[in-house]
Amino acid sequence: MSLAMEAPDRCRDELEALATKAGHELADASAAEILAWAADTFGARFCVTSSMQDTVLSHLASSVAPGVDVVFLDTGYHFAETLGTADAASVVIPINLVTVRPRQTVAEQDATLGPELYRRNPELCCQLRKVAPLERALTSYDAWATGVRRDESQTRADTPVVSWNERRGKVRIAPLASWRQEDVDRYITDNGLLTNPLLDDGYPSIGCWPCTRRVAEGEDPRAGRWAGRTKTECGINT
Ligand code: SF4
Repeated sequence: MSLAMEAPDRCRDELEALATKAGHELADASAAEILAWAADTFGARFCVTSSMQDTVLSHLASSVAPGVDVVFLDTGYHFAETLGTADAASVVIPINLVTVRPRQTVAEQDATLGPELYRRNPELCCQLRKVAPLERALTSYDAWATGVRRDESQTRADTPVVSWNERRGKVRIAPLASWRQEDVDRYITDNGLLTNPLLDDGYPSIGCWPCTRRVAEGEDPRAGRWAGRTKTECGINT
């Protein structure tokens, strides 16, 4: 696949039809096969998103599409380890790291909406610092791949490998949907991949530092995200 190839200009109906067909045909395909289909089908109008918890999806995508765009949302609230992982990934993996930021810095947001919005209104904070920046970034693409897996939580248990995202008018691809944590761990070991150092420091799921805590042995891996709140998702994966 060549990222330099001209991306076909498809209307919304064509994209939806492609997503529906591929959702059936690729239901049991491997992650590499799904990514190869995405890269061949959408060319430069395909990207991968990464939270920089690990580099599995970026590595897989770059193996079938060297130079693929990897969108990283820099919320302004990331752990230093996450920012370091993003920087290192862009050096050691053949990807084009696309760092996307909110319209306002944290200081500007504090000045206009008050400090620590994440405590008072995490929904709005995620909307401003994650969801809206991702929407803006995705305007350049017809399809994006996310690293969500069915085994991560109940809310992700039905994740299809390819689906139509009506709200965004784009094709959503989840190549790792059927993977389990042991598959991820094996891929990392087999390929000597870079991971976020926090994974080995009690953080099995890593988000912004104000909304992420360590989890205890035996706890749900996502229990450290927005702990003590009913919130379980930031909104970028819907
Ligand atoms: S995870 Fe927390 S700090 Fe990050 S954008 Fe959402 S509410 Fe704000």
